[in-house]
Amino acid sequence: MTRVEIRDLRKEFGSLVAVDDVSLTVKSGELLCLLGPSGCGKSTTLRMLSGLETPTSGTIELGEEDVTNQPPYQRDSSMVFQSWALFPYKTVLENVAFGLKMKGADKQERREKARETLELMQIEEFADSVPTDLSGGQQQRVALARSLALNPKLLLLDEPLSNLDKRLKEQMQIELKNIHDRFDKTMVHVTHDQNEAFTLADRIGIMNEGRLVQVGPPREVYNNPANRFVEEFLGETN
Ligand code: ADP
Ligand code: MG
Repeated sequence: MTRVEIRDLRKEFGSLVAVDDVSLTVKSGELLCLLGPSGCGKSTTLRMLSGLETPTSGTIELGEEDVTNQPPYQRDSSMVFQSWALFPYKTVLENVAFGLKMKGADKQERREKARETLELMQIEEFADSVPTDLSGGQQQRVALARSLALNPKLLLLDEPLSNLDKRLKEQMQIELKNIHDRFDKTMVHVTHDQNEAFTLADRIGIMNEGRLVQVGPPREVYNNPANRFVEEFLGETN
């Protein structure tokens, strides 16, 4: 587990300010949801946390370490994507073992760790299947297993459930909460779905037009919206 300290984080794409001086502390072991409408800068923020995007300015600390300019593979974090990004021609086991290769584990170690994680996620029966033979929910479990196998201090999730139907989504929300409890991870979960954020989050950070406009526990945010935007955004049903 580890704390994340984000200070004045900014990302410009040409004249567009995608992330506008965001400062935020994610507490150790916390599940924080970044919530906001499409285009408000959630993914860009998460990509900077993972190292996939370089900030224009600002700093990111993971634990005691300044990781602002570290490439993704050097950071003790792992990202789960909306599209899952599984290798279609590799088996489930190979998919989960793959990330461990980047971390320098030998073949034996990789297979053992991958199997262990598949068991924890209760998908060991699919070890030798290819992802396309699995349902959406099962594929998402594989993507989660691939990240968890790395045992990252920080787990980053970018709308991981948005490709799932409603029933499966609710099931996976429970699953994610279980993962959070069982694995004791610091997690930043990005979503535009307020139900999801309110179900999962220890704290919610609401973004609008690149800015972080409110951070707090779900109940507090719901009862005391910081401004008109938050009030109206939470008033919308989705
Ligand atoms: P969200 O995840 O909240 O939907 P994003 O972080 O993806 O928002 O995008 C924030 C803004 O930055 C959007 O206006 C988007 O079009 C823009 N943007 C994101 N990535 C790039 C990029 N690589 N190049 C140019 N503009 C980008
Ligand atoms: Mg996004």
